[in-house]
Amino acid sequence: MLAVLAAVAFLSVLALLARDLTAFTAPRDFETDNLPWNLTLVNSTHPLPDDFTVSTVELSNGQRVDERIAQPLEELFRAASTAGYTPCVSSGFRTRDDQEQILEDRIESYEADGLAPQAAEREARRWVAEPGTSEHELGLAVDINDALGNEGLYDWLAEHAHEYGFIQRYPSDKTDITGISFEPWHYRYVGVEDATAIWQSGITLEEYLART
Ligand SMILES: [Zn+2]
Repeated sequence: MLAVLAAVAFLSVLALLARDLTAFTAPRDFETDNLPWNLTLVNSTHPLPDDFTVSTVELSNGQRVDERIAQPLEELFRAASTAGYTPCVSSGFRTRDDQEQILEDRIESYEADGLAPQAAEREARRWVAEPGTSEHELGLAVDINDALGNEGLYDWLAEHAHEYGFIQRYPSDKTDITGISFEPWHYRYVGVEDATAIWQSGITLEEYLART
């Protein structure tokens, strides 16, 4: 009897240890300097360098993206169209100046709504990424919406975008890790292999990079 109890206790400890070893904790410091282009991390604590440049191509509606993702994006859109949606890129690549302008416009609009300048700026910064820290400045992020307003597209993208190399970057249950509110339209190219691994694990890019 004692032996059985001891064995059970031992196995319980093993189970606890195993759980501890596999449990994921929020990412702290991890190597982000030598990542391949498709895994570049851009967020509030990982701004783009001031001299960042990227070769972009123009989409049919005038938005731009990193030229390396034009083809996978086209394939994603073709599949979404086949599924009955009318996907469009409402925002692609932005220069740092673009991002600064977006922030300024937002501050002005809050001031126009009656907020004092300081409060307007504080509120705007809650919603608009600091210039240099928006993933759109990387050229690998796209806001995808349905041109006819069909919100079912968001569910379709959540299920299929990884097949074309894109991940939903700011999921609803990960805002504490990404620091960004749920954005069902914001997709980020990382390549099919990494996107599939991220999708299967249900994690964010931050968590994925901390893991690998
Ligand atoms: Zn976006």
